[in-house]
Amino acid sequence: MDRGEYDVCTYCGRSIFPGVAECPYCHNYTDGKGPLGLEHDRPRAKWFVVVAWIAVVAMLLPLLWALWRLFRR
Ligand SMILES: [Zn+2]
Repeated sequence: MDRGEYDVCTYCGRSIFPGVAECPYCHNYTDGKGPLGLEHDRPRAKWFVVVAWIAVVAMLLPLLWALWRLFRR
């Protein structure tokens, strides 16, 4: 399969001509939002960022708590 001449449908995974608006096999629009497309991974990436932020905050909380106790005296 030559990826240079064909696009891959993000819904059914078949090779389609680049630039067509609708897949000739499954008749979904080739907007890249299918389960095989990159757009589908974005919600998971956002979720990962949120979890990473929670982890960072959880690591900083003891430090902030120590600083607060230090300045409280
Ligand atoms: Zn398709």
